[in-house]
Amino acid sequence: MTLGRFAPSPTGVLHLGNLRTALASWLSARRAGGRWIVRMEDVDGPRCRRDLGEDQLRDLAALGLESDATVLWQSDRSAAYREALAALHRASRLYPCRCTRKDLQLLASAPHTEDGLRPYPGRCRGRVWEGFEAVSAGSSRASGGGLGGHPEQSEQAVPPDGFVALRLCLPDGAVAWEDRLLGPQVDDPATLTGDPLLFRRDGCFAYHLAVVTDDGAQGVTEVVRGADLRSVTATQIRLQEALGLPRPSYAHLGMVAAPDGSRLGKRAGALGLAALVSRGIPSEEIIGWLGWSLGCLGRPEPCAAADLIQGFDWTQVPTEEVRVPAVWT
Ligand code: GLU
Repeated sequence: MTLGRFAPSPTGVLHLGNLRTALASWLSARRAGGRWIVRMEDVDGPRCRRDLGEDQLRDLAALGLESDATVLWQSDRSAAYREALAALHRASRLYPCRCTRKDLQLLASAPHTEDGLRPYPGRCRGRVWEGFEAVSAGSSRASGGGLGGHPEQSEQAVPPDGFVALRLCLPDGAVAWEDRLLGPQVDDPATLTGDPLLFRRDGCFAYHLAVVTDDGAQGVTEVVRGADLRSVTATQIRLQEALGLPRPSYAHLGMVAAPDGSRLGKRAGALGLAALVSRGIPSEEIIGWLGWSLGCLGRPEPCAAADLIQGFDWTQVPTEEVRVPAVWT
């Protein structure tokens, strides 16, 4: 059974690009007769806010996009992420990284990747992490060993004198994967992200760990997201493999740009649903425009999300970026 998902980070208002991704993931799942869920990616502590997440859920519901299951908040998932780290540690796939941001800037020789980041060059590879066992063995609170089998005792996994950053040691070689929109892809994750950070020095679980663990735990079969995340897909596939999780299908949608082609930034940042509706643009008109931009309609015309299901077909979805109508800005 198809299970699609939309996984926003509650760091701000959902703009038209986010809403387009939400609608495409919903339409794809519905067209296949499947289910669709929303997951709140609030793992990145301070930048994420519960109230922003609630607003996002309200906007989605106003467009007719409601999660078929209880919304999962990643801030509630620490035990699962610790389990995943423990499994990777048992498989000798983790190493501690002591590089600071400054070290990484000095080390950088590779060109910037498409998302502007440089791949991690693997400087700390080969370092040995004593792991949860060693920490808990030395702790007075410890009685059960590693965190893996004892989630209720897992706070012991945190070294008392601070956190250590952990990375996944990637195997060599490129990953071939299929994008439903962009076709066959071959990416070498070493040149895109390098060994991904899974646990941060500040004690937060990192994005790659959370997204891969949750897609696996929730049984997600299709991932639809913005093209800005295309470059991390091969890395996430490697992490799935390391965790023994199945590979979902992927589709990376072109971005939504401002009318002049610039990124939807601060100026056009008011382009959330509430801002548009308060300017007199009804939500049916917004859904109609989004549906048209996804190839479901011959022209933008007001409708409900459910009216678009029959017309949705991945072969009709344009790969290029789309621009917000100037009259909306
Ligand atoms: N939470 C991520 C974001 O809002 C999306 C993650 C994903 O779809 O894999 O950019």
